[in-house]
Amino acid sequence: MKKLLLSAAVSATLAFAGAAMAALPNVSILATGGTIAGSAASNTQMTGYKAGSIGIQTLINAVPAMKQYANISGEQICNIDSANMTSDIQLKLAKRVNELLARSDVNGIVITHGTDTLEETAYFLNLTVKSDKPVVLVGAMRPATAISADGPLNLLNAVKVATSKEAAGKGVLVILNDEINGARDVTKMNTTNVDTFHAPILGALGMMNSDKPAFFRASTKRHTKASEFDISKVKKLPRVDIIYSHADDDGVMAKAAVAAGAKGIVHAGTGDGSIHEKTFPALEQASKKGVVVVRSSRVPSGITTVGTDEWTKAGILESGSLNPQKARILLQLALSKTTNREEIRRIFEQY
Ligand code: ASP
Repeated sequence: MKKLLLSAAVSATLAFAGAAMAALPNVSILATGGTIAGSAASNTQMTGYKAGSIGIQTLINAVPAMKQYANISGEQICNIDSANMTSDIQLKLAKRVNELLARSDVNGIVITHGTDTLEETAYFLNLTVKSDKPVVLVGAMRPATAISADGPLNLLNAVKVATSKEAAGKGVLVILNDEINGARDVTKMNTTNVDTFHAPILGALGMMNSDKPAFFRASTKRHTKASEFDISKVKKLPRVDIIYSHADDDGVMAKAAVAAGAKGIVHAGTGDGSIHEKTFPALEQASKKGVVVVRSSRVPSGITTVGTDEWTKAGILESGSLNPQKARILLQLALSKTTNREEIRRIFEQY
């Protein structure tokens, strides 16, 4: 009798443990490289190390606490320094994310990424992922081998965000250093400090509140399920160059971009997206040839507003609150659908 009771108790415990396990959400971690997977010769080396050298399984093994929050599976998409990111990899990643999120047994995605171009990939996914399920990008500023490496805690937090109900429907998110930002508005603001990702114009969406993510706002711009961009059949994105303005700017770079086959140019202008008078003829010429030119600004905060009549007459558009690298991503996607300026103007207003 005693034996029977004991075995009943054991099987009840097992059933409970099984139910608890089954209740955990499933999170896929897609690894692309970066400093979070970086390794240096010593634990005090914080710069000049090799980004993208540790594989996904090692990253997962380093943070066993993730298993308390989700059933984790890992996949290596690439293992690069994100300074070398390409739109081909971004397309591959977006297609894989869409494939995984279409499955009922995948509840959220975490993407480990180098911080240099993390904001670009995040915005690309924000515009091309067709799901409300959480997609969270995470990186680190110190290599995995460093004393006080920031990667493991960032990764654990990313899993917590990816399993949070509140994260659903907020678009692609970025978490580093406890701050949760929206892909559209976030940018890297410090070259080496762990406190580097912020949204200088519109602010963070949330932050970690001890164990849980706390959200305070959401973006009003179109993203993910509400986005019109379908990359399922896109094989190549058009070339779009960014031209950074400065004293003595003379249009040489704009001409070079056109000669290289750019279908679009983002002009990172001075101040409120100003164009040097010596560069304007080259941009006007490019625009006449059908190259879509969008004015943005090299100033880290503020809206690039509608410019002079001369610029408007030349068919030059403005990026609004998108920084040059985000404007470039949106222009690539817009140009993969249309070359109509009014349509592209609408797209810049809505995303
Ligand atoms: N160069 C690195 C990368 O973007 C920097 C980092 O991840 O922090 O891959």
